[in-house]
Amino acid sequence: EFGKIASELNLEIYLVGGAVRDALLGKKIVDFDFVTNDAISFGKRLKEKFNGTIEIFEETQTVHFVFNGMNFDFVTARREYYVDNSLVPVIEKATLKEDLARRDFTINAMAVDIREKNFGILYDYFNGYEDLLKGIIRVLKPLSFIEDPSRIFRAIKYMVELKFKFSRESEILLKKAVEIGALFSSKSQRVQEELKELIAKDEIDQVIQFFTNYGILKEIFRINGIPKATVSAIKSFYKTEKDTTKRIHAFLFLIYLSKCHINEEEVNKIFGIRKHEILKIKEAIEVFKNIKESFSKEDLPSIVIKLNNLDLTYVHAYYYKTKGEVKKFFKDYLEKLRFIKNELRGSDLKELGLKEGPQYRKIFDILTSLKLKGEIKDKNDEIKYLL
Ligand code: ATP
Repeated sequence: EFGKIASELNLEIYLVGGAVRDALLGKKIVDFDFVTNDAISFGKRLKEKFNGTIEIFEETQTVHFVFNGMNFDFVTARREYYVDNSLVPVIEKATLKEDLARRDFTINAMAVDIREKNFGILYDYFNGYEDLLKGIIRVLKPLSFIEDPSRIFRAIKYMVELKFKFSRESEILLKKAVEIGALFSSKSQRVQEELKELIAKDEIDQVIQFFTNYGILKEIFRINGIPKATVSAIKSFYKTEKDTTKRIHAFLFLIYLSKCHINEEEVNKIFGIRKHEILKIKEAIEVFKNIKESFSKEDLPSIVIKLNNLDLTYVHAYYYKTKGEVKKFFKDYLEKLRFIKNELRGSDLKELGLKEGPQYRKIFDILTSLKLKGEIKDKNDEIKYLL
């Protein structure tokens, strides 16, 4: 149907990028990207013919169409180039070949004509089909990773997801780009997003292996490797936690646990994680760094209260790093102790005539502590204690 509309308007239209790659691999496609020579006129005609949600963006010359749970994106063929040291590319209208030439890897730079008269003709200017058959990731130009460092993470994503290998030259180019600091060359949302997507992957152990081999670990975390015990703790955490944000936070926490220093600027720049979130990670690290000492110095209720005041994610992640008696305690904490809380609320304290303020937190902690010791049982006991 899209081919028909394009033909009526005398436009070219091609399915491009990941959809072509996945179709050739026999995979299911849900996101379809098309290149045409005038996405705006195409989008306007689409709007007349279909009821789905159609958004037209004149500024970027793109059209987004959602239909039956599938996403269709139409873009006007364009060419991108970088002037001097500018990080923002200049964008101009262009031919299909030029549009494909700005893409990341050969396997993502193929197009298929979808007009009736040419239906199914494959445009493969960069030998993507051959690379796809051989399972090879290859960049289109030597400066590719430096132009857009998010491609470093995209390459690793494909190696993990598709089990593809790098071409020799591309691998060398990637290592060089990392070495000269391309990852920190600019604060790019693309870099942040691709990195976070990778770090939240089920196959985190493979991702860590690539990060180690390519010098990425050294660049981002200033370390040469991650201990096996930490990798398996991360892996275990991921088995029970599917939320990507929690996975990323737990990952950072476990990595930084064995290091003394977190550079907030750097973490913020490359992960896009806000400063107050980083502070929470730091706070958790402080507690866990001294946890062994705490066990010999403090009573259990005061440890429980310390843990209660942290995000559960970190306690949960730390659990997978522990062994023996300590593990038993953390299991107990996660399953039972953390649910033992005082019952009085802030409003109750107010009614009792206590002035609002940070002392409320202290009172709650004392009550919880007494409850953990079994000295008080319910709300009435709490009131009695306070009076
Ligand atoms: P997946 O969703 O599995 O990652 P995809 O290839 O569809 O696959 P998208 O991020 O949706 O990934 O990108 C669509 C297409 O846009 C890619 O196939 C590629 O041709 C191009 N592309 C995406 N990111 C870049 C980039 N950083 N540099 C150059 N081209 C890119």
